[in-house]
Formats: sequence, structure tokens, C-alpha cells
Amino acid sequence: MLDKAARGERLNAAEIEALYGLPLPEVAGVANALRLDRRDPDTVTFLIDRNINYTNVCNVGCNFCAFYRTKRQKDSYTLDYQEISAKIVELEEVGGTRILMQGGVNPELGLDYYTGLLRHIKANHPTIRIDAFSPEEVLFMEKNFGLSLDALLDTLIEAGLDGLPGAGGEILEDDVRARAAPARIRSEDWFRIIDAAQSKGLYTIATMVIGFGETFAQRTSHLLKLREQQDKANHDYDGNGFSGFAMWTLQTEHTRLHGKAPGATAHEYLQQLAVARIALDNFANIQASWPAQGFKVAQAALYYGANDLGSTMLEENVVSAAGGGGRHKATVRELVRIAVDAGFTPAIRNSRFEIIEWPDVQAALGRHESNPEEARAVGAAG
Ligand code: SF4
Repeated sequence: MLDKAARGERLNAAEIEALYGLPLPEVAGVANALRLDRRDPDTVTFLIDRNINYTNVCNVGCNFCAFYRTKRQKDSYTLDYQEISAKIVELEEVGGTRILMQGGVNPELGLDYYTGLLRHIKANHPTIRIDAFSPEEVLFMEKNFGLSLDALLDTLIEAGLDGLPGAGGEILEDDVRARAAPARIRSEDWFRIIDAAQSKGLYTIATMVIGFGETFAQRTSHLLKLREQQDKANHDYDGNGFSGFAMWTLQTEHTRLHGKAPGATAHEYLQQLAVARIALDNFANIQASWPAQGFKVAQAALYYGANDLGSTMLEENVVSAAGGGGRHKATVRELVRIAVDAGFTPAIRNSRFEIIEWPDVQAALGRHESNPEEARAVGAAG
């Protein structure tokens, strides 16, 4: 079946599942060849952006989450618009172009908070793109604000929403989800909300998290559901499907799943990445995950099917709260170095994976040696 995949032919469920039983170097070789074929073989991209978690109050209570708090806990928070603006100013200072803004599902917040926030950001930071609110948050809004999904998305778009992150995908098989997070959004709703967002031209990204103890058959099913949705969006929504695919490994420190879920090793991560590149034949862009796997494994991932290093983030709170790869942000210099040392030309992209800037590699790497602080500003200066 590797020959079939190498010829660019679509694999069925049994063939994809069988990939997990093959030697990883062979699977990786095909995945890498497909990556070189589907995207510029010389280039590795990344985005300068910032994560903003506007509230950590959440009533979903996923067993794998170390980020959320109840509203009575002393360290619970909800950011006001000025606090969020201050974070965006820091992003603007390093040449960033988008925020990825997500929070817990905070029952205290009304629709006005969300629409007011979007309007505030657009008015005060007009060059910043807003990709915000995962399907879980959108489901909460749909249930509580008296609007149909259609009307709700129109309202958020009118207020300034540019895209919907695909967080909460994990494994889109409900028995895996029910064990890991009984109150978590079900797969049917996740796809219903993503489909509606894609139909309205919003940016979306497909996600996957491994390490819950899911079977290879369940991982295969997850990939096939994403592939099917991508086919639908490409056909029905003029190509406005998922912009890319991001996959990482479950982190369980400080969570109720600690010691109960197996997580995933670097080998499993790289294997899953390679299988995804082969299975997702209608996805151009596949990200390497440095927040969960660290820079070194993320760099290796560039030869297992990934063509992109994700983003700088500047601030990552959710994966890092549960352990992560010891990283919650990256500088432009660090991502440039990963790409260059692996033999690629680094390029800065927007969230649609369009290249917007070629960083000055010599300046990026040289500046760090004389002044580490300057390295953060390379995106703006270059
Ligand atoms: S993962 Fe998201 S929805 Fe689940 S508990 Fe954490 S903040 Fe809430």
C-alpha cells in the first residue's frame, strides 16, 4: 500500500490502519516524498502570532485539562479589553499578524462580551487577524444566547471574527471523548460548527491529539472524518476547507488523566504525523508541534510529513499547563534556526499559509549572538 500512496492514490481505512504496522522509516519516506510534492520542497513556513486565553473559567471540566478553573478559585481570571489590547500591542511590536484567542467556557460571559471584544480589537488593532473561539465555545454561545448557529456566526463575523480555530478535535470518536472528557463537545457538533464556519468563508484548521489510549482504528477513523469534511468543503465551499492539520501529543501533568492515559512517545508522534500526511491527501499543510514535543522533535518532524513549524505563539497556556515540551513560546530566531539547520528556507506566513515575508536569515541568527533581545524583533525589522 505504500507504493499506492507514493503514486498519490487515496488509501482506504484498512490500508491507512495497516500503515501503523509498517517500519517507520518506510512510512516516513513516503510521507516526506508526498510533503515535498504537495508544498514547496525548499521552504518551511511559520506564523508570527500570539495565543490569548481570555478566560480560564470553564464549566466543561475536561479530565485532560490543567488550564481551567472554576470561578471560585483564587487564580481564575477573565481579561478585560484593555488587558487583551496590551497583549496585542506586544504582538504588533514583533511584527505579528494574528491572534489565536480561545478560552474556557465561562458561563458568566454574555454575547456582548464576545462581540464587544471583537469590535474593540478591530477598532484598535486593524491589522491583526482574529482567529477565535473553538467549536466548544461556539456551542456554548449557541445554547445560551438564543441564536441559531447561522445567526450566531453572522453576528461574530460582523463584529470582526476572521476564523475559527479547530481546537477540541482531539480524537473525533465519541467513546474516546467520553472517557477523556464526559462533557466535551461531541464529534457531530464539532463537525457541524466547523462546516458552518467553512461555509461562511471563515478560516479553520484541523486538529488531532494522540495518547488517550485510542486504538489505531480510532485514529484512522478520525483522519478519515477530517478527509471527508475537507472533500465536502473543497466541493461545496469553493475550496474553503481546513487550511492545515495540527497534531500533538496528550500532556497529562496536573490533570486527572495523569497516570491513567498512556500519552505518546516521540516515535509515536512521528509515526502519527507520517500516517496523517499519507492519509490526508487533500491537505497541503501539516504542522510540526514544538509546544508538546519540543524543538528537536519538531525539527525531525520536517522529514516525517510536516512542512510548517506552527507559530511563535508568544504565550501558550493550555498545553504548557499540563506539561508540554517545556516551551510556551518561540522566537523568530529559534524557528528560523530550526528550519535552516534542517536544510530549508524559512518563510513567514499568514494564517492561510500564504507567504508574507522572507526573514533575513543572517540577521536573525547573527543578532541573537550579540543581543538576544533583538532576536524577537526580527520579524518586524526583517
Ligand atoms: S480543554 Fe477547554 S473546554 Fe476543556 S476544561 Fe480545558 S478550557 Fe475547558
